[in-house]
Amino acid sequence: MPGHPLRYEYYSYKDAMTLLSEYTTFEEPQFKTKELSVCRALIVDDDQTSQLVLDAILQDIIITECNDDSLNMVEYCLQTKPDMVLLDLNMPGKDGITVCKELKANKDTADIPVVFITGSDKPEDQDRCWEAGASDFINKPVVASTLQHRVKNLLLSKIRLDLLTEQTFRDQLTGLYNRYYMHAEIPAIFKHCVRENASFGVMMIDIDNFKSFNDTYGHLEGDNCLAQVAGALTHTLRRPQDKILRYGGEEFVVFLPNTEQEGMKQLAQAMCTNVEKLNIENAASGNGVVTISVGYVVTHADYQTSLGKLVNEADQALFEAKQAGKNRSIGHHL
Ligand code: GH3
Ligand code: MG
Ligand code: MG
Repeated sequence: MPGHPLRYEYYSYKDAMTLLSEYTTFEEPQFKTKELSVCRALIVDDDQTSQLVLDAILQDIIITECNDDSLNMVEYCLQTKPDMVLLDLNMPGKDGITVCKELKANKDTADIPVVFITGSDKPEDQDRCWEAGASDFINKPVVASTLQHRVKNLLLSKIRLDLLTEQTFRDQLTGLYNRYYMHAEIPAIFKHCVRENASFGVMMIDIDNFKSFNDTYGHLEGDNCLAQVAGALTHTLRRPQDKILRYGGEEFVVFLPNTEQEGMKQLAQAMCTNVEKLNIENAASGNGVVTISVGYVVTHADYQTSLGKLVNEADQALFEAKQAGKNRSIGHHL
C-alpha cells in the first residue's frame, strides 16, 4: 500500500494488520486518478458542421461540449474547467490564437491543453499556434482515429500531471495543502494584499494534549482525529481565498487575505467551537473532548511586513493561548 500513512514502526505486523482493517472505518482523503471517460473536452468552433464532426468522433471516448462564443472563453473555462480545449483557428469575435494566449496567460486556465483544428496548411499559421501555447495541432479534414489517439494521449498526460501536482501540494492524511504549497503560493497572495494595502490575517492552530491522545487511543485513532479536525477547520472557512494548510504534525496554519481583526476573532472562536463539537473523546483534556488552541495576527499588509514575521507572531499568540489554559484563541495586531 504505497504512501499509506500507517506507521508500521509502532506495531508488530499482526497489530498493524488488525489496525489496518479498523483504519478503513474513516474516510481517508485519497489521491484518485481521473478516468478518461469522465474527462471533458470543449470544442470551440463557429462552424456548426465542424462542431458536429468533432463531437461525433470524440463522444465515444470522452464527454464533449460545443461552444461558438470565443469572446468570453477564459471566463467560460474558469467556470466549467474543461480538461482540454479544441480550438478553431479562424473565428469571428476572437480568433483562436488570441483565445489560446489568453487561456495560457491566466494561472487558473494555463494548464488546460489546447489543440488547434484548422483547414489552414500554411507553416506560419502552425508556428503561431505553437507560439501561442498550443499542445497540438490537427489539420482538417481530420482523420478520426488520429484525432481520438491524440486526444487520448494528451488527456492521459494531463491526468498524470494533475495527480502529481495534487500529491506535491497536498497532505495525504488530511487532504489539506502542505508546506510546499505555502512556499509556492502564499507569497504571491500576500504580495497582492500589500499592493492593495489590504488587511491580512494569519492563524496558527494546534490540537491540545495530542500526545496524550495518541498515547491513550493509539496513533491510528490519532490520524483519524487529525483528519476529522482538518475537516471541521476547513468547513469553518467560508471564502475560497482563505487557505488552510497542515503546517506540521498536529499544527495547522490559515492565511486570510482581506480579513479584519473582528472577523479573525469570530473565525478563531468558531474554529474552537466546531472542533469541540466533533465530540471526539480525549481523557487528557479539561472537558473530556479534543480541543484546539488558536493564535492569530492581523496586519495591514505593507512592504515592511514579512510572511515569516506574521507566522512567528501568530505562533507567539498560540503559545499564549496554550499558557492561558488551552481551548481558546488569542489575537495580536501588528
Ligand atoms: P499541547 O496541548 O501543548 O499542544 O501538547 P501536545 O501533546 O498536543 O503537543 P506535543 O507537541 O507534545 O505533541 C504533539 C503530538 O502530535 C506528538 C506526535 O506524536 C503527534 N503527531 C504528530 N504528527 C502526527 C500524525 O501524523 N499522526 C498522529 N497520530 N500523531 C501525530
Ligand atoms: Mg504541536
Ligand atoms: Mg498540541
